Amino acid sequence: MKKHPFTNKLLQWHKTIDRELPWKSTSDPYKIWISEIVLQQTRVSQGTSYYLKLIKNYPTVQDLANSSEDELFSHWQGLGYYSRARNLHKAAKIIATEYNGTFPKLYSQILQLPGIGPYTAAAISSFAYNLPHAVVDGNVYRVLSRYFDSHEPIDTSTGKKKYQQIADQLIDKDKAALYNQAIMDFGALVCTPSQPHCDTCPMQYDCKALAEATAHMLPVKTRKIKRKTRKFVFFVIQNGDAVIIEKRQNNDIWKALYQFPMLESTSTITEESIIKLMLPRVMNIKHFNIRSYNSHQQKLTHQDIFAHIIHLTTTEQITDHTFTPINKLAYYAFPKVLQQWIETHLLSSQKVIN
Ligand code: SF4
Repeated sequence: MKKHPFTNKLLQWHKTIDRELPWKSTSDPYKIWISEIVLQQTRVSQGTSYYLKLIKNYPTVQDLANSSEDELFSHWQGLGYYSRARNLHKAAKIIATEYNGTFPKLYSQILQLPGIGPYTAAAISSFAYNLPHAVVDGNVYRVLSRYFDSHEPIDTSTGKKKYQQIADQLIDKDKAALYNQAIMDFGALVCTPSQPHCDTCPMQYDCKALAEATAHMLPVKTRKIKRKTRKFVFFVIQNGDAVIIEKRQNNDIWKALYQFPMLESTSTITEESIIKLMLPRVMNIKHFNIRSYNSHQQKLTHQDIFAHIIHLTTTEQITDHTFTPINKLAYYAFPKVLQQWIETHLLSSQKVIN
């Protein structure tokens, strides 16, 4: 079948580049899967060390299935979006039990696994098995919308369907893995989000957005994300060299991560309101010293979290809570905002004491 000029030029261009990534030379579906999940919402420069660490600690899907969620979270620390790790763990267990530890081979089976959407299923199917499923990620939306000067929004179901159809028509069915890798590399290296390299681009004579001078407007998005602001007050209650921590249980952000006892507040927060009104609701503690009070911000995709961290020391016995030694906190995964505070305020002082 005759290939589209876009496809020919893309594959020609790809022969001229050398973009080395640790997972590119493998056709192992397990490694490809780990790399794709790590790289969702994460830059390659940050994700590479996590990919290598996960592959080292869990060389096979069975190893991952046999681990605990807490252990996996501790390797995931700093990467954020822990739902990815949770789904990775769930999917590994399904592969271990339902597929005898062998990664499924059909696109439809891969798509059924937790945390895997059409993009990831297409990436694994093509990179591991060379199946003709076209990937459509942020890079691909950008490249296709510009090349065809399409102003169809990419965040509506009609738009998604349209771009998937175009991508499915363009893919080289005999070289699915190569084509998918090429279009993502092209989006990352040439048709970049701002200041695309049109003057050296191999598509410059066919690209409709370049002809119409619309590249900077594309791709089009309709929805503006509504951001929510939330105020969390965390109480770090320290007795000797230990603090109280707990696991987040609710169906909310940071589920199954660890934190200090906390309250969410909708009113204005002052140090006085924290001590007089909030602390008694969290813990019945009478004798303490305030060592520090800090306010930190963490930006999530749809939420701005303001974390007020109040550090109390006490010698009071608190029998209904377990204290965890500070030098063991590294074994627990905390949200980033708490992790940074722990490193600065608890672990650094531990090093001095030791
Ligand atoms: Fe992208 Fe410019 Fe190439 Fe068009 S000419 S595909 S806008 S880099």
